[in-house]
Amino acid sequence: MRKDAKIYIAGHRGMVGSAIVRQLEAAGYGNLLTRTSSDLDLTQQQQVSDFLLSEKPDYIFMAAAKVGGIHANNTYRADFIYQNLMIEANVIHAAWQAGVKRMLFLGSSCIYPRDCPQPIREDYLLTGPLEQTNEPYAIAKIAGIKLCESYNRQYGTAYVSAMPTNLYGPNDNYDLANSHVLPALIRKAHEAKLRGDSTYTVWGSGRPMREFLHVDDMASACLFLMEQNAITDGLFNVGTGTDVTIRELAETVMDVVGFAGEIVFDASKPDGTPRKLLDVSRLQQLGWKATIDLREGIALAYADFLTKHAGG
Ligand code: GDP
Repeated sequence: MRKDAKIYIAGHRGMVGSAIVRQLEAAGYGNLLTRTSSDLDLTQQQQVSDFLLSEKPDYIFMAAAKVGGIHANNTYRADFIYQNLMIEANVIHAAWQAGVKRMLFLGSSCIYPRDCPQPIREDYLLTGPLEQTNEPYAIAKIAGIKLCESYNRQYGTAYVSAMPTNLYGPNDNYDLANSHVLPALIRKAHEAKLRGDSTYTVWGSGRPMREFLHVDDMASACLFLMEQNAITDGLFNVGTGTDVTIRELAETVMDVVGFAGEIVFDASKPDGTPRKLLDVSRLQQLGWKATIDLREGIALAYADFLTKHAGG
């Protein structure tokens, strides 16, 4: 990528999009194109088409999506499948019409079959049934991958897909009902500490295993992939290669936050998929590796939470 290339970051206000913007700016890319959702509604085909045909960016980072944790995915099932399908279809089709050669499409590790072998390799896609709690979102993301692949095959574009594991970091969503587990646990531990509680509630059994990647590592992987001109198609897992149980995660969060209560497991909440550790050897063989370890990353996320949400 030339430093003056015109780069559109779809979803630049979100956790991943904002991290990509920070990373691009730090690397000296100066011609970044962004639009807020009130200026450009990506679910509206005509608006997306008009925007991309007039701007004609050289590159697109497709980080716009409706996202959420296990409860949000399971509850707003129609919104998750509809909005994600519309956003992807509109952006990918209009990008091709506007002559955009290279795009990085962002998905999620929940696209893989629920019970597939661990660690999960890219070629396990579509080899078995999905986890039910986030099936609508996963189906939409699989459609996005297949859109990219199909435009590449039929029209010679170079739309590559990156599948991150569970992400966390600055600009995360800390809403207790709809967020992912890590921001929820940070907020719960912080509030329990302030109230002087003796217990701390964690959903499910605490036994599921999850892998967590700091969003700055994710953004670095996105930039790395976009800069590999020889890669013109396919799917790349992005993760750390190690996972922890939800119980271990809760204990580390309590430690970082400085709350010394007892964990109570709420069995009325779903566990979701038992494990989803990504095999990251494909990206590692190209020369990329995560650098922020989980404890250090949680400390960074907690510091960010304090400045933005706790007035600290
Ligand atoms: P998932 O990776 O798609 O299942 O999404 P989440 O990040 O929402 O949840 C991961 C795991 O953490 C699930 O087993 C949840 O039940 C568990 N968990 C424990 N406490 C919480 C919480 O307070 N919020 C959320 N979202 N998940 C929690």
